[in-house]
Amino acid sequence: MDLNFTAKDAAFRDEVRSFLNENLTDELKAHARLTPGILADHDLRVAWLKILHKRGWSAPSWPKEYGGPGWNVMQRFIWASECAAAGAPTGSNMGLSMVGPTLMGHGTDEQRKKYMPPILSGDDWWCQGYSEPGSGSDLASLQCRAVSDGDDYIINGTKLWTTGAHIANRMFCLVRTDPDAKKQEGISFILIEDFEAKGIKIDPIITLAGDHEVNQVFFDDVRVPKANRVGAENNGWTVAKYLLEFERGGAAHGAHLRNSLNKLKVIASTEHSDDGSKLIDDPAFQRKLNETDIEVTAVEYTEHRIMSQLSNGQNPGAAASMIKLRGSDTSQKITELGVEAIGYYATPHVMEARSWGSNVPPVGPDHALMVMPKYLNTRAMTIFGGSNEVQRNIMAKAVLGL
Ligand SMILES: Cc1cc2nc3c(=O)[nH]c(=O)nc-3n(C[C@H](O)[C@H](O)[C@H](O)COP(=O)(O)OP(=O)(O)OC[C@H]3O[C@@H](n4cnc5c(N)ncnc54)[C@H](O)[C@@H]3O)c2cc1C
Repeated sequence: MDLNFTAKDAAFRDEVRSFLNENLTDELKAHARLTPGILADHDLRVAWLKILHKRGWSAPSWPKEYGGPGWNVMQRFIWASECAAAGAPTGSNMGLSMVGPTLMGHGTDEQRKKYMPPILSGDDWWCQGYSEPGSGSDLASLQCRAVSDGDDYIINGTKLWTTGAHIANRMFCLVRTDPDAKKQEGISFILIEDFEAKGIKIDPIITLAGDHEVNQVFFDDVRVPKANRVGAENNGWTVAKYLLEFERGGAAHGAHLRNSLNKLKVIASTEHSDDGSKLIDDPAFQRKLNETDIEVTAVEYTEHRIMSQLSNGQNPGAAASMIKLRGSDTSQKITELGVEAIGYYATPHVMEARSWGSNVPPVGPDHALMVMPKYLNTRAMTIFGGSNEVQRNIMAKAVLGL
């Protein structure tokens, strides 16, 4: 694929830039800056999505027929890069990145009509109920049980590490519908429409960085209509695997990595090395920066390849595992260099200074405030969405035929 901008691409980039200039308020940018990980402030995230929706841009990768802008690969790349560079709110939106594509591939027309528009408008927020205690990498061993009762299922069990369950009003989940079948063959994919239903309990889990992003969810006789199943009964594993390719491949890692690396370079231009010179001029630190730059470029190019495959109607397949693995590793590396760059200012934990409008000053320079929270939060990247070891296993099997 040709990566040079055509006149049309350049015009689109200018259109995106002026849209971001006009709509991205200081408050939205500050929130994005103060978000260490995967969940931006929910109200602001929704507010931003609504602004995008008004313009028809809330789902960059969705085709026009489902309410997306119908952008081509280059337009999506320009959009992601410009948003990252402008500091737009990011954060996980599982409705857009996972539920939508899954319904396009495996849902019924009725399910698409019902669930896709409120994802676009930001009125519905989805969380992912896959993992359970003892069933993470070995997801097919999951135990959360759905028993048939007329037109409904009755669900009992628990889901663990559920990102954003406390802000979601809907959940997509995997449940065991046949305990006697081979483990992959007894699973169904269910949409829980009423996530505030009787019998659902959500317990927070606070992360290392002090944030509330993940939860444990308990189901006690929760009734869900069978019409909310995606795909055939006991065929949920096929749907789940299809979805995981989007989870691993669709995150625009390249643009975010480039943005983080640029910020790191700014920090290194301000901080000093032991001999008093600018850190960015220190040969040892410079080498690390350059090596990381090469890794970011490799991720960007791999991502272009995946986007190109997607635009030709192919699924990303094992390349999604490759980008997940390299994207996560490189992201962690950038945050490690951030900690190295700010030295002892990485130590103070000033949670209060991380709120929008707070009058509590950070300890040390402003740029140091989010370095440690980001470092800590980024540790989870090589675990969630399939750990590094699991991604390597997938690639070994699918690419190398081992
Ligand atoms: C911040 C965060 C957010 C998350 N969000 C969600 C969410 O929204 N929804 C959801 O469903 N889940 C979510 N998860 C769960 C995540 O998908 C699991 O944690 C992950 O799949 C690993 O499973 P586990 O924690 O059970 O660890 P295990 O599977 O027990 O793994 C433990 C270790 O063993 C290694 N290992 C396991 N199997 C193999 C193997 N076959 N070969 C080699 N090494 C292996 C792993 O790589 C890991 O190092 C989240 C996790 C985190 C940390």
